[in-house]
Amino acid sequence: MARFVSTYSHDRYVVRPRFRKSIDGGLRSEMVPGLAAEFENNTFDSEAEQLRLRWTDEERIEVEEFLRSCADFGHRISEPDLSGITSEPRIALSDLRTCLFVVTIDGDVEPCGRPASSEDGYCDKHASLAEAPQSKPNRSKAAASS
Ligand SMILES: [Zn+2]
Repeated sequence: MARFVSTYSHDRYVVRPRFRKSIDGGLRSEMVPGLAAEFENNTFDSEAEQLRLRWTDEERIEVEEFLRSCADFGHRISEPDLSGITSEPRIALSDLRTCLFVVTIDGDVEPCGRPASSEDGYCDKHASLAEAPQSKPNRSKAAASS
């Protein structure tokens, strides 16, 4: 997601003006919609606008790239780094984790589902299994027997 802010509460950057395109060898014409970034309350959220105006991904990216490359970027408009900011309460990663152990029953992969208690992400029951050294196929033995 890309969110841009402007020092102006209502700002507008025209990426592509709409224009009249002649078709059928000039017999008819059609309006080609333009592309613009409209800032409301100092912000422009490209993904919200994409949904609202039914932009394609290419159009959204075109708008984002336009804003990032325009001369005002870094001055009048900017793209704040919101990656560290979340409106949702932060939940400790350990609270969300469930045991990483999976069993395969008739081709269906069934996760254990119990809350993970160990640091490496396994429940009490499976922690000891995970810590056990993985048995590795013995290649030399297999080659010898074939
Ligand atoms: Zn488990």
